Amino acid sequence: MLPGRDLGAASAKWERIQRHLRDEFGDAVFKSWLRPLTLGQAEGGEIVLFVPTRFMRDWVDRHYMDRIRRRWNEEDPAVRSVQIRVHRGKSPPSAVTSRTPAGEGAGAAEQSAAEGQADISAPLDPRLTFENFVVGKSNELAYAAARRVAEATTVPFNPLFLYGGVGLGKTHLMHAITWHIRARDPSRRVIYLSAEKFMYQFIRALRYRNTMAFKDQFRSVDVLMIDDVQFISGRETTQEEFFHTFNALVDQNRQIVISADKSPSDLEGMKERMRSRLGWGLVADIHQTDYELRLSILQAKADHLEASVPLKVLEFLAHKIVSNVRELEGALNRVVAHATLVGRDITLEATQEVLHDLLRANARRVTIEEIQKRVAEHFNIRIADMHSARRARAVARPRQVAMYLAKQLTSRSLPEIGRKFGGRDHTTVMHAVRKVEELRSGDSDFSEDVELLRRMIES
Ligand code: ADP
Ligand code: MG
Repeated sequence: MLPGRDLGAASAKWERIQRHLRDEFGDAVFKSWLRPLTLGQAEGGEIVLFVPTRFMRDWVDRHYMDRIRRRWNEEDPAVRSVQIRVHRGKSPPSAVTSRTPAGEGAGAAEQSAAEGQADISAPLDPRLTFENFVVGKSNELAYAAARRVAEATTVPFNPLFLYGGVGLGKTHLMHAITWHIRARDPSRRVIYLSAEKFMYQFIRALRYRNTMAFKDQFRSVDVLMIDDVQFISGRETTQEEFFHTFNALVDQNRQIVISADKSPSDLEGMKERMRSRLGWGLVADIHQTDYELRLSILQAKADHLEASVPLKVLEFLAHKIVSNVRELEGALNRVVAHATLVGRDITLEATQEVLHDLLRANARRVTIEEIQKRVAEHFNIRIADMHSARRARAVARPRQVAMYLAKQLTSRSLPEIGRKFGGRDHTTVMHAVRKVEELRSGDSDFSEDVELLRRMIES
């Protein structure tokens, strides 16, 4: 049989299988990992799927290949093997990174529209597109809502209110909306600016008595995006002006997108009517990332940097850098930059070394109470003895060890530690720290004991 005929028939099967996989694993997983797979070859019962990167191959192989093979067998019992291979040319358009998104729809109309907005709209980062945004459980609602706004011809909800902690992708989504709209319909006026800039412009307009001109800038806008709106909390006149602008635009059925670090109802210093108004549309929060999303983001960034980073290193980073995406990105950049600079391969050891400060900051926070509990358990004394005045060696020594560990594992000061140990003086804590250090250098059994405790508490 001709290979081409085989491929044609297999294509229909592959489409069915993909639909099943989507149902089985859900949208987020499907989009990130399974949709990028394309059918490469289908000959003599051997199926080859193409995937755009090595990392994706490893990941899909490890997590989804069993299911994919089983599905193939159900579709076609004649299939004997299903392989997955890296093939860069075969990635679908969605996986291709657009370097100059503005260029997609470049034309005279866009140019003039862009010029008209130049005075007020903030510059956009070309990397912050939907294509470069990795979707996971924690951000899928925000992503879907942002896409909806970007693709809509009528206003789907007003406003779209995006909120979440720092570095989780709010600004990224807002830039992405702007890029998307500008590329698709350059005649639409989109203004993106930070709340701070909004405030600054407004105050300047007040000073030069041209608030009319300020208002005019917003009158003809189709989409207004204001980033980090928490910054205008507590600023009465700016808030008032913002409220008017907001209402005027909503009345004219123009789209508004707002971001903040808190939900509308938690925005302190914001007038009640403004808070409730902000919550009228769709409120989408971006949660902290989970491990899987962090790993996908790292992979996407590593590909983008065209750096070959071992899977082990990416997994390590995804485990350890849990604070936010900006920090995760920064960590990867540092590791890659270091390797390039010293001309060595990226290894786990080098990574740990380059990032030791960051890794420490991301380490789990240990409390003094936890330390006291663990140490008391270990030495078989009562927790109350951590606070008591008893001086017997059997309780005094463990108490000193606990103080020592509190100094090592927390950022508490000596007086703070003393207070937690039954209101002891900071000199007592200092003495305990010195004593334990001294004992550790002279007694290896004791030292090992303390080290073991430390590791147990930290893990
Ligand atoms: P925020 O505005 O919420 O503080 P940003 O949008 O500035 O956060 O994101 C911080 C950095 O992390 C940016 O470089 C952004 O591109 C990146 N980032 C955040 N979320 C994602 C994601 N889901 N996929 C890819 N990059 C992301
Ligand atoms: Mg931001």
